[in-house]
Amino acid sequence: MDRRTRLIATFEEAKIDALLVTSLKNVRYLTGFSGSAALLLVEPQRTTIFTDPRYDLQVRQQVDCHVTVSTKPARALETALARRKIRRLGFEAQHVRFADHARWKQSLPASLRLTPTTSLVESLRAIKSPPEIDAIRKAVTLNSAAFDAATKQIRLGMSERELAAEIDYQMRLLGADCPAFDTIVAAGPNSALPHAQPGSKPLEANELLLIDMGAQVEGYASDMTRVLHLGQPNRRTNRLYRSVLDAQLAAVETVRDGVQAGTVDRAARSRLAAHQLDQFFTHSTGHGLGLDIHEFPRLAKGEKTVLCAGMIVTVEPGVYQAGRGGIRIEDTVLVTGSGCEVLTTTPKELLVV
Ligand code: ZN
Ligand code: ZN
Repeated sequence: MDRRTRLIATFEEAKIDALLVTSLKNVRYLTGFSGSAALLLVEPQRTTIFTDPRYDLQVRQQVDCHVTVSTKPARALETALARRKIRRLGFEAQHVRFADHARWKQSLPASLRLTPTTSLVESLRAIKSPPEIDAIRKAVTLNSAAFDAATKQIRLGMSERELAAEIDYQMRLLGADCPAFDTIVAAGPNSALPHAQPGSKPLEANELLLIDMGAQVEGYASDMTRVLHLGQPNRRTNRLYRSVLDAQLAAVETVRDGVQAGTVDRAARSRLAAHQLDQFFTHSTGHGLGLDIHEFPRLAKGEKTVLCAGMIVTVEPGVYQAGRGGIRIEDTVLVTGSGCEVLTTTPKELLVV
């Protein structure tokens, strides 16, 4: 069944007759359109994309639904809706701006009921098709190649920002659309901030260096975190690293079709607890990824979502100790019927440079 047909099959339960899609990632998923401005009206009998003249050529090349190009796409949509006999129009509650909603209430026919929906398209996106899996596989492979190339350039005294620029450069050079998110390079004590922003801090001897990077290929993201040590690590650092790796491997071990997302999180957390490190693990264990870097499902405490074959998730436990630093190890993992396939091939031993 194609994507729009599967979406339309959810309308009855969502109590809507049509869906107005405003999330550009969802528009891309449903039509293939990759431009930066579009509205999509999905009705059981037809789907129409509304965009502006900048995308006239592109939209016709990319989509196989009805196209309306207008200098005022929102107005064109309203005109189209005024002609349709839709009673309950679903909208994406998580993506619609308050001002747009207020305007629709004014401008759309009184007989049309605006109905909020949640994650109708996102739920479909959680399970990847073979071409999507291929795209993510490419993104993961490219990510690792860029990591290898960039880390060869590491020298003491260069700043976090310089290394982040080198990583981004290598990703583009190897064929990425762009980085999938802002590259994290965090040296020494900065690595204790799970989402540190690379700054002017120079890389110094005898400290940890955390790199969290993702490449976007054909619109799809990869996500990987590795930790390096500048110079030989001491016993304490080695032990800490092995504990996080132990938790990461234990969590990966639980990933399979039919398992609750919370089970994966629990595996990581309980292994860290065995090393008396669980209080330093301050985020969830992982997340789905695809067109967005963060998608369904969430691999978090108590999360009941059942993992299904074809989902692609990250597994990324970490420990963060203020003043000392942080260690996180993150792979991109494909859920399969019999277990999982770790797509990330970069070795997971503590890399000493
Ligand atoms: Zn990451
Ligand atoms: Zn991640």
